[in-house]
Amino acid sequence: MSKNPTALIIGTGVGGLSAAIALENIGWSVQLFEKSDGLRTTGSGLSVMSNASAAMKKLLGIDLDLKSYGAEIHNFEIRHKSGILLKRLPMQEISNQQGAPCICISREKLQQSLLNHLGDTSMIFGKRAVGYVETTDGIQLNFDDGTVYHGDILVGADGFYSSIRESIGTESIIQEAGYICWLALVKYSHPQITQGYVVHYWGSGKRIGIIDIGNGWVYWWGTANMSPYEAKSWQGTNKDIAEFYSSWPDLVLDIILSTDSTSIITVDAKDRTFPETWTKGRVTLLGDAAHPMLTSLGQGAGLSIEDAAVLGYVLRNTDDYTEALKRYEVIRQPRARAIVNASRALSEIEQYDSLVPRLKRDMGMLFASQKTIRDKLKESLLFNDIIVQDNYNTKNIY
Ligand SMILES: Cc1cc2nc3c(=O)[nH]c(=O)nc-3n(C[C@H](O)[C@H](O)[C@H](O)COP(=O)(O)OP(=O)(O)OC[C@H]3O[C@@H](n4cnc5c(N)ncnc54)[C@H](O)[C@@H]3O)c2cc1C
Repeated sequence: MSKNPTALIIGTGVGGLSAAIALENIGWSVQLFEKSDGLRTTGSGLSVMSNASAAMKKLLGIDLDLKSYGAEIHNFEIRHKSGILLKRLPMQEISNQQGAPCICISREKLQQSLLNHLGDTSMIFGKRAVGYVETTDGIQLNFDDGTVYHGDILVGADGFYSSIRESIGTESIIQEAGYICWLALVKYSHPQITQGYVVHYWGSGKRIGIIDIGNGWVYWWGTANMSPYEAKSWQGTNKDIAEFYSSWPDLVLDIILSTDSTSIITVDAKDRTFPETWTKGRVTLLGDAAHPMLTSLGQGAGLSIEDAAVLGYVLRNTDDYTEALKRYEVIRQPRARAIVNASRALSEIEQYDSLVPRLKRDMGMLFASQKTIRDKLKESLLFNDIIVQDNYNTKNIY
């Protein structure tokens, strides 16, 4: 193995930072490039499910210690918009089995926790990657300011609109989901919101999630069916949002109206067709660049952390980077594809707006056995390191 191989990583989102942690851990030097002038400090909250921390721990021995930065989920409820409890999800039981917690956290704190695990990685801001050339012994990465950097591999962790994905020529078409998402963080207290509390209310073409992220902060998101055009151009206040939920429980209306309109982020829900190829030679994709998905399973960031762990795992102790990156793709794609498809399927069910499907959905959740729910949740929440190790040891990967 050559000394100090260098990874060039595009993007300083959760995916890029996690990949840098993983590759530093196996002795690589890492250069991170970001087109923005600094790390993104805005954003709301997100869940990082137990599978993400488990992947880092099991494959690379890295303890992300997210518990110190966010709130561990203790009680996860699905309720009807009338307030009726449909189900309590056994997240904590599954986390205990996995040996890693499900954490709800602000984006800022998640970023902080990842930065605290980074060593010598250099982060270069204001650098927009525009293309690369693969030479016999490495990568030449080109930026819009005319500068060129060299490395042994290139990781495109450049998000939903990845230019590296385009450069390697893999197709991934945007699919509009037909609804809007509002997201916000607010300092808020309410007797229903206990430590580690998560509630999702389901309605007709609308839902809302309210989530404790610790230290008196609450993350909430809401959705409502509307055309992609309306969702993209929507402008309104907290009062306008509250009108969408006018007959919903008091908690829902109160938290929306307690949130300053200027701190509410609006996003049109969308994913992409699954990119069939992630890897070309010494170049690969990771995170949203590789598997953009809808948010219903709360797994976008979690899967990018899993990607990073597997990338570190396959690249350790080898100097055949092309083979290792192909192996990374072969190992990751079935899992990522399954989660992307499951997120889309769940999103469709959650956004039902006609009576009969909604009744079936709500009754199905109310009467589902704990075993059925547990088995379903395990598909995403459990990270199976044995599959990774078996695949790693398989001689023929093609
Ligand atoms: C509404 C919403 C809610 C979500 N909730 C959750 C949740 O609860 N749980 C969860 O796990 N996930 C959630 N996600 C998904 C999650 O945010 C992403 O999957 C995750 O952040 C992974 O991001 P990434 O690092 O791959 O990409 P990004 O965060 O998009 O980062 C990509 C970075 O690359 C930079 N970049 C792009 N192009 C270039 C270029 N050419 N040159 C240099 N830099 C470039 C960008 O500026 C950016 O900083 C949610 C997403 C949305 C939209």
